[in-house]
Amino acid sequence: MAIPCVNCVLCNDSVDEDLAHLFLGYGFAKSMWNWLNLTYDERDGPLEIFETLRVQVHAPFFMEIVILLCWAIWQTRNDCIFKDLQPDLICCKRTFRNCFESVTNQTFKHDMEHT
Ligand SMILES: [Zn+2]
Repeated sequence: MAIPCVNCVLCNDSVDEDLAHLFLGYGFAKSMWNWLNLTYDERDGPLEIFETLRVQVHAPFFMEIVILLCWAIWQTRNDCIFKDLQPDLICCKRTFRNCFESVTNQTFKHDMEHT
């Protein structure tokens, strides 16, 4: 079975798409993290980077932010592949915002129902 091209669809150059590259290691992802005022050295490994991000967020909902931002990047990547759309930071930010609002609304609703 032939494996199709594994190059990252969000970069113009021929870079293999792996998790570290897709979510941390290229300009689009870095722009998204920077949008949240979060910075890191992409030469660090993923675990070091997530620790750096955790320290910067310094909030109990750190994992929610990481998961939702990665989800937004993943959605953008899938839109490139399956909808033939160009990577769009504005759409990616909107996806993150919508998901974050949905999670916080659910958490608030849950808290209100159980107090
Ligand atoms: Zn890439």
